Amino acid sequence: MRDLDELLTQLTLEEKAGLCSGQDFWHTRAIERLGIPAIMMADGPHGLRKQPDGPGADHVGLLDSTPATCFPTAAGLASSWDTELLTRVGQALGREAQAEALSVVLGPGANIKRSPLCGRNFEYFSEDPLLSSRLASAHIQGVQSQGVGSSLKHFAANNQEHRRMSVDARIDERPLREIYLASFEEAVREGKPWTVMCAYNRLNGPLCSEHHRLLTDILRDEWGFEGVVVSDWAAVNDRIDGLKAGLELEMPSSGDTRTRLIVDAVKEGHLEEAVLDRAVRRLLTLIFKGVDQHRPNVTADLQTHHQLAREAGRQSMVLLKNEQILPLGSQQKVAVIGEFAQRPRFQGGGSSHVNPTRVDTPLDAMTSRAEAPLTYAQGFEIDSDQTNDRLTEEAVAAAQSAEVAVLFVGLPERYESEGYDRTHLNLPANQLALIDAITQAQPATVIVLANGSPIVMPWVDRVPAILEGYLGGQAAGAAISDLLFGDASPAGRLAETFPHRLEDTPCYLSFPGEGDVVNYSEGIFVGYRHYDTVGTAPLFPFGHGLSYTTFEYSDLTLSGDAIRAEQGLSVTLRVTNTGQRAGHEVIQLYVSDRTCTVPVAEKALKGFHKVYLAPGESISVTLDLTHRDLAWYDVDHQCFRAPSGTFEVHVGASSRDIRAVASFTVEGDAPAWPALHRNTLFGDLEALPTAQRILRDTLAPMAEASPLLAGMLGDTSDGESDDMMVAMMRYLPLRALPSFTAGAFSEDDITTLLERLRQAAVA
Ligand code: BGC
Repeated sequence: MRDLDELLTQLTLEEKAGLCSGQDFWHTRAIERLGIPAIMMADGPHGLRKQPDGPGADHVGLLDSTPATCFPTAAGLASSWDTELLTRVGQALGREAQAEALSVVLGPGANIKRSPLCGRNFEYFSEDPLLSSRLASAHIQGVQSQGVGSSLKHFAANNQEHRRMSVDARIDERPLREIYLASFEEAVREGKPWTVMCAYNRLNGPLCSEHHRLLTDILRDEWGFEGVVVSDWAAVNDRIDGLKAGLELEMPSSGDTRTRLIVDAVKEGHLEEAVLDRAVRRLLTLIFKGVDQHRPNVTADLQTHHQLAREAGRQSMVLLKNEQILPLGSQQKVAVIGEFAQRPRFQGGGSSHVNPTRVDTPLDAMTSRAEAPLTYAQGFEIDSDQTNDRLTEEAVAAAQSAEVAVLFVGLPERYESEGYDRTHLNLPANQLALIDAITQAQPATVIVLANGSPIVMPWVDRVPAILEGYLGGQAAGAAISDLLFGDASPAGRLAETFPHRLEDTPCYLSFPGEGDVVNYSEGIFVGYRHYDTVGTAPLFPFGHGLSYTTFEYSDLTLSGDAIRAEQGLSVTLRVTNTGQRAGHEVIQLYVSDRTCTVPVAEKALKGFHKVYLAPGESISVTLDLTHRDLAWYDVDHQCFRAPSGTFEVHVGASSRDIRAVASFTVEGDAPAWPALHRNTLFGDLEALPTAQRILRDTLAPMAEASPLLAGMLGDTSDGESDDMMVAMMRYLPLRALPSFTAGAFSEDDITTLLERLRQAAVA
């Protein structure tokens, strides 16, 4: 056993300060005289980007890296809704990292997709916090099972690239807790990442890199995080404030500049040495964990990982539309059109850019799978938005002479990347023109998309089938072929809403903000929560995805129809494959809170389960709801609170394809006392029996003389409660009592009443 306390005493102040910054772009600092080695980190979430040591390292994906398996990016992986798959991908990633002697993989990213315009959405999982956090947790557990740490990023509220290093995300407490932090919470609590990477941006004022509430109060004290917080690359501003807030490791190295600042701050008394020691202890724990778990002789089976990438690709792609045209027949005469078929876009730009071990193109994969000859036409140039008439003519001719056209279109890399956001959701003009030309020439046209985030589809009604391929990883070509020819039934379901128009998106009016301020004015109504609550029809809803088979839902039962919130609830149902092929179904469980104690979304995802069923096969599935699934965040009391009243469970195949509904009542948490002062409203004391008793005792003697007060107490002369009076009283502050009793209730009486209420509140 290493004695870290002893080691700490041997380190000089300069050495301790030095450990709080990297040694170079990717390593922690070594202190050879004490046998403290350097450990190495590398991006990223869907494949490794290990750059060679030495000058020229970068965090934007410029310099090439060691070949590694490129899996589908998070947008695709999330569409699998498959935690077990995410764990297996994480394991493969962890193993490749172990083989490369890496100790930390910089990912996954659990930021919420607030707007489809965010340039980095391809690296994030979902617009829904439960799905995002659960998948991130599964990914982390996979990576870490191989003795390599994860770095859950970018904590928190890094939901746009526009001014990402300076913008202040202004988020009210409920959306912050229920959406943006919730997207990390389960990943921290259950996934237990070795490190968390703080985000570049500000959050309600402070930069995330020096945000004590975020990095210490919430992350460590509430969620129990025990690892190291690392800065996003160059996120550090004030190193001393950062250390005090809970940021242990600055990356990349800032040379000795900030080390000197730390030393001076300790010497001058601005920074307690105990704060530095605590950070160093955490860093040493991480470094030795990396060293102890390093296995020198591990090799990665890249062939097997490629097959896993292919499986992940199949699970990730979403069949958005299919009017009896897919799957293709092996003997069908197919025209493959679009440069993406030959030059697939299978990953995104920036720090997550992987140098793949190999790439399967759709054209090669389809050519070897088909039993009839395929024709190929380039159709357009990926690197230009200009229509090329010659390419169009060739493509039209190919489409006309085939029985079916498969048209590969998508977003070129310059359209979406880390570092900037999109400004619209359109495909390039030349691709739109080609879709027009091909669909006129060949009504049997299948569109295959390559994009990291939703696009709009003005052409949706002109094509009978659309396969959303996302950025499907290095085996995307083979996976697309598997799905098009029906060797596998499509299994992906959207983890985000596809809107008809950019104007329909929840934060259309506030994204990406003005100057360095972005107000999240849509509150909790993010993604489908917005569309469902305001009743705007999406192009394709959250959770949507077709299959080559059909499923029936039946026998929905609840473990109780009147429960106490802390008891939770089990929801059981049966799902049957009623079609002719085997296939996956993602059973989605949404909850509607009909108590409306506070503004709530029409429904919210609270559970999901993916099953694989043979034709005719049937399975019983049970999903559990906890107290938290019934609760909203009570800002005044800083806790999740479940209200009393009626709730509904909705189970179905998408947020807009609900197959069964059941309702139940909940006895929620005991109502909480509001803050007590002269402006406290009568209505806020309504649900508290003790408060009601005190009010009655105090006010009743005066009610006889004041019909108004009698009305307010619900004691009208005819003995019936006056609804209008009761309703008006709800918004009346205590300070109004003297005015409504002609002074009979004095200012001193307010003080006495408040005193009694306060005593009751703490009793
Ligand atoms: C990105 C991180 C990445 C880091 C290192 C930053 O620009 O935001 O996601 O891990 O660079 O490449």
